[in-house]
Amino acid sequence: MSDVFKLIRVIMYPEFSDEYWMAEALKRADIAEQHGEIPVGAIVVQDNQIIAEGYNLSITEHDPSAHAEMLAIRQAGKKIENYRMLDCTLYVTLEPCPMCAGLLVHSRIKRLVFGASDEKTGCAGSIMDLTRHEKLNHQIDVTSGVLGQQCSEKLSSFFKRRRAEIKAAKKAASSQD
Ligand SMILES: [Zn+2]
Repeated sequence: MSDVFKLIRVIMYPEFSDEYWMAEALKRADIAEQHGEIPVGAIVVQDNQIIAEGYNLSITEHDPSAHAEMLAIRQAGKKIENYRMLDCTLYVTLEPCPMCAGLLVHSRIKRLVFGASDEKTGCAGSIMDLTRHEKLNHQIDVTSGVLGQQCSEKLSSFFKRRRAEIKAAKKAASSQD
């Protein structure tokens, strides 16, 4: 989409901006956090409607593949009764890992919009780019950094709190000796 068209769309339909949808993905990240999971949330949007959602559930489900994107894409496929998502956009609060970036290529999704970059496992540009790899059979239109600060602050405050909890638990355990 050209920048001019994007601008017109945002002015005419502010509720349909990337920021609007990312705020929806952030709400799903909150649900993950309520489950004691790393707060990552995702939604799939088609024709300006949320058709699927997902949030990290790896710990709860004992499933290393239960990432927000994975769950959202699976739900979207069931919803549209198609394993191809040519006219859909995935919004996710954190840059996809190699597994999820690979899944997005398989899904043929049109757009990926993510918030925070992931310098450790991000495969939409940080450590490598599977989403726009010229040798793969599908390239995705990627927008990064949408509500990026909010998305990364949510993660860093979660890890900070978890580290403090672990430290407190260790202290409590050692004082019982
Ligand atoms: Zn993933």
